[in-house]
Amino acid sequence: MYQEKINAYFDTPEARETLVKAIARLVKINSVRGEAQPGKPFGEGPAAALAEGLALAGEWGFQTENVENYVGTADLNDKETRLHILGHLDVVGEGKGWDTDPYTCVEKDGMLYGRGVSDDKGPVVCALMAMKAVKDLGLPVNANVKLVMGTDEESGSSDIAYYYSKHPYAPYSFTPDADFPVINIEKGHYHPDFGKTWAAETVLPRVTELTGGFRFNVVPPEAQCVVAGLTAADVKPHADAVTNQTRTPFTLTEEKDGVHIHCAGKNAHAASPDDGINAICALLTLLARLPLADCESTRALQALHTLFPFGDTRGAALGIAQSDEESGPLTLNFALLTVTDTGFTGKFDVRFPLCANEDNCKKACEASFAHYGIAVTGDENMTTVHCVPSDSPLVQTLLRCYETYTGTTNAKPLAIGGGTYVHDIPGGVACGCQFPGFDPKMHAPNEQASIDLLLTSCKIFTQAIVELCQ
Ligand SMILES: [Zn+2]
Repeated sequence: MYQEKINAYFDTPEARETLVKAIARLVKINSVRGEAQPGKPFGEGPAAALAEGLALAGEWGFQTENVENYVGTADLNDKETRLHILGHLDVVGEGKGWDTDPYTCVEKDGMLYGRGVSDDKGPVVCALMAMKAVKDLGLPVNANVKLVMGTDEESGSSDIAYYYSKHPYAPYSFTPDADFPVINIEKGHYHPDFGKTWAAETVLPRVTELTGGFRFNVVPPEAQCVVAGLTAADVKPHADAVTNQTRTPFTLTEEKDGVHIHCAGKNAHAASPDDGINAICALLTLLARLPLADCESTRALQALHTLFPFGDTRGAALGIAQSDEESGPLTLNFALLTVTDTGFTGKFDVRFPLCANEDNCKKACEASFAHYGIAVTGDENMTTVHCVPSDSPLVQTLLRCYETYTGTTNAKPLAIGGGTYVHDIPGGVACGCQFPGFDPKMHAPNEQASIDLLLTSCKIFTQAIVELCQ
């Protein structure tokens, strides 16, 4: 019912200019986490960006508070707080490959370019603009909105952990640091360490060493091993056959200690393992075809190949595949593997849906491992799924506001394997500012935002504030 007023407010050159100028002020400050300083837990950059964010909020007439340079807050009014909007002013490093200066907000053809325009400085300004619109338009609210501007989202979110250790949660919280329309489910995490040991062996041919992966939440882009007792010519036909199946190139080099095999896959976030190509699983596929001696290391590698076959990103072979309508399938990334002369250690990263539990996930996995003498050695607990019911007032309101200003119907909440800023906040959801079909190139060179879409985000947030705080 305030749609016309809100549209009229934001569909002006003035609103556009205010938005762009505010974002530019924040982008100008390199706020990558640095060395902690006295009173600046995340270094100079994040503290400077926070000071600028608070200055902006102050200029727009909001009461602000700097909470020890962990977060800063801006209040819509002095009534009881009903809604927290959480954004962050720290950014990831700029990296290489930019066409423009990453710390200058450049406007071109309706787009903004610069580090943070989408993640998350632009969305923070959208939220603040929405609060400004509520105030400027005199829209009726009987509760407070507190914008919480964090400064450590990209390095572990210790900023809001600190803040909430001293301040209460709000009845409603959302973070514009992810996707529209609304993310109401963030899957649970299960990433145990596992392994097996054996006595050193001498029989040939055998794998004498293997390493793959570098971080458990990344699909391993590389894996390599040494096979003693075989030549490159022995391995080549098998490598070619496996490449046909997996699209992973193998590089074979013959050295004194045997043939060195390198496998190149493609990295991706563990929350979406289908986007990557798992080099460890591809290498195991090749090793399973080679005429290796029957010994402990060979049997272990075969077991791992059986439990983690190439392409199985759902945990089917491990016996934990499952899915439910609300939160989607369990996903699995076999992330790390090290084999030495006397054993192996490995780690996978599972993101599990609501239907998963100790019995059908953790215990089922441990039983599959036990069959091959593999033991879980650490990090063995499942976390919980972060879920805000799709029929809750917060989710329903945000969906409706999204539909109103995008002209879409039937917007559905999303379940993701990753975690957002509200992962540990009871009742919190993610909402915006990434629209379906638009790639903002977050964390990459040439990060971008569409000014029109940012303005649409402002409208959605304005309406959401009014509806949630009426
Ligand atoms: Zn972010």
